[in-house]
Amino acid sequence: MENQNLISNQNTYKMKNTVSLHEYNCLQTAKIGCDDCRGCSHCCENMGDSIVLDPYDMWMLTSNLRLAGNTPVTYEILTSEDGPLELSNHDGLILPNIKMVVDERPGHSHSDTGICPFLNGSGRCSIHSIRTGLCRLYPLGRNFYPDKIKYFILNEELGCPSKKKSYVKISDWLEIPDIEKYEAFQLKWHNLKKETLVKMQNPNTSIEDQKTLMLHFLKTFYQTPYSSDFYNDFENRAFAF
Ligand code: SF4
Ligand code: SF4
Repeated sequence: MENQNLISNQNTYKMKNTVSLHEYNCLQTAKIGCDDCRGCSHCCENMGDSIVLDPYDMWMLTSNLRLAGNTPVTYEILTSEDGPLELSNHDGLILPNIKMVVDERPGHSHSDTGICPFLNGSGRCSIHSIRTGLCRLYPLGRNFYPDKIKYFILNEELGCPSKKKSYVKISDWLEIPDIEKYEAFQLKWHNLKKETLVKMQNPNTSIEDQKTLMLHFLKTFYQTPYSSDFYNDFENRAFAF
């Protein structure tokens, strides 16, 4: 079983303390509802490089975001110097994550730590319907087993500060259509990352080959646009990789 949550790439020491005793499957309810997050944007601030995108997130952003003049947003635009994403090293793999920006909202005090560039002036997510999987997950973390995913509530230190919690079915909280397909994708993606990392770390893999593999990985799963049939595209790419 392996553990993943919003801070997993930031602090491995903390990670050991995030697992609560109780695990849920996605059809169970958990006390995670927070009154529509009224007046709070705590989990969109000061997140460092921890909001890592997976291929589904990249598909969502590139198929839904538009620039002025209705120009589609591409991987290259998103990861450009002025774009909202950056490439960082996440446990040995180079992956895109949301790039925190200086908080210039009047009356706010996060100028040194940064906020998500998608957070609007009213403290709301401007891309709510296409927000990343990790944003959807919070304040849950997830454990990966060979054939299933289980969810757990992050502990007090990392979790949502809201005191008024209500019970919500986890699949409703995630707001992702066809949760079964999504979880199957997540499991495959998790394993694919692990396998790629093993290849990268093989002592027989030269630095040059590591670089080539990493670029191929990024190109295959993030840079090459997906059709409307994301899951089928992903399966084909995973099979051929
Ligand atoms: S920290 Fe909790 S209440 Fe605040 S925005 Fe995030 S989920 Fe909502
Ligand atoms: S994408 Fe939206 S929900 Fe996620 S951190 Fe940014 S503002 Fe918050």
